[in-house]
Amino acid sequence: MATLTFLGAAGTVTGSRHLLELEGTRVLVDCGLFQGRKENRQKNWEDFPIAPESIDHVLLTHAHIDHSGYLPRLVRQGFRGRVHATTATADLCRIMLPDSAHLQEEEAKWANKKGYSKHSPARPLYTAADAEKALALFRPMHFGDELEIAAGVRVKFRATGHILGAAYIDIKSRRGDSSRKLVFGGDLGRARDEILQDPAQPHHVDTLVLESTYGDRLHPDSDPVEDLAKVVVESLERGGVLVIPSFAIGRAQTLLYVLRELEETGRIPSVPVYVDSPMAVQALQVFHDRVSDLNLHGRLLTVGGRDIFRPRQLRLASTREQSQAINGIDKGAIVVSASGMATGGRVLHHLRERLPDSRHTVLFIGYQAAGTRGRKILEGAEAIRMFGEDIPVRARICNIDGFSGHADYLEILAWLMPFNRPPAQTYLVHGEEEARMALAERIRKRYGWSVHAPSEGEEVAVDLE
Ligand SMILES: [Zn+2]
Repeated sequence: MATLTFLGAAGTVTGSRHLLELEGTRVLVDCGLFQGRKENRQKNWEDFPIAPESIDHVLLTHAHIDHSGYLPRLVRQGFRGRVHATTATADLCRIMLPDSAHLQEEEAKWANKKGYSKHSPARPLYTAADAEKALALFRPMHFGDELEIAAGVRVKFRATGHILGAAYIDIKSRRGDSSRKLVFGGDLGRARDEILQDPAQPHHVDTLVLESTYGDRLHPDSDPVEDLAKVVVESLERGGVLVIPSFAIGRAQTLLYVLRELEETGRIPSVPVYVDSPMAVQALQVFHDRVSDLNLHGRLLTVGGRDIFRPRQLRLASTREQSQAINGIDKGAIVVSASGMATGGRVLHHLRERLPDSRHTVLFIGYQAAGTRGRKILEGAEAIRMFGEDIPVRARICNIDGFSGHADYLEILAWLMPFNRPPAQTYLVHGEEEARMALAERIRKRYGWSVHAPSEGEEVAVDLE
């Protein structure tokens, strides 16, 4: 028997951390940062529930910060084990963890300047040096490789789409002729993603840990690629510039891929496409290095000699001067810049420049959390506060929902369909409470499975021979 303790993402969508204790081995599956509301973020500062130095392995499903971003903190508190993740996840963590550390350090600096911290001086949750120490512990693996984490217990990573390198984790124990399987679903992607592989299919699962982000929602029926073509053409007709706030990693690269496809098939004219985000440019290199992790279509085009992330007039802005020079262009161009919710980053400069002019268009292509500038603009705010000024919103505002990286509830049910037999137990995590309960009910009704929504800190027994 093994035990599984849910240390985060139980009733929320962030802070994924699940502790698996096998005989003599402690394994932490995902090591995510709590994000969003203050009471959630506060949890990042609490002592880790068990001694970090007693953990032997961390297994990461993917690079998103709510799954990987606590790792430098765990290291700061004494973790010295190994971190296992796919090669692409390790590559992306090399960009994301130092960036997250930088944000933590900036926040501490800001708190000291404004004097709002309880601690004096305020200290960062972790530093760039902690992130470097964490990265040194990584042991990248390929999809399908086997790793023995305890006697008779092996681990495999299998693709889930969602983001480059994202995996579900398949843990199997074997004693003689019998075996037991535990699967951590990670974040489940979608069928027919533009560039990522379809999620792989597990079978004969005894215990399943499954996300429920979209447990009560369906994605729109419309094709996001067609929607994008329409917005691009209309923005050019308006005679201005199209600004697309985008997450730097994942979404920005998908966007470049789609823009190139639209251009090549003649659905949009070729126009200069500026990528103004150092992280997006760095991540682009990872996508190039890991083309083998993409879907067959992307690989096929690459083998055929195509640079699949390069619209004909792609311009990468690295320096501040290159970034500022974009302001001098007043029509017939697309600007892709982070952050995706306009909470910070270089996109703010572009929004300040373009929002006041009705000839320009601003297109949101990702989820906009409550309270962010992105959400306020989408909800029709007449002015937006940035750089201490109220910037009037006169540009055309558009939104495309369909590029989501999370399976909706029908897509989740479709993934569960070929499991061959019901898992003895399915645990739902990583979803707001309403979404989680809705998905639990759907799985029970459709397949008659035993489904449980664990609370944070709950410990359960897992049958792993
Ligand atoms: Zn994710």
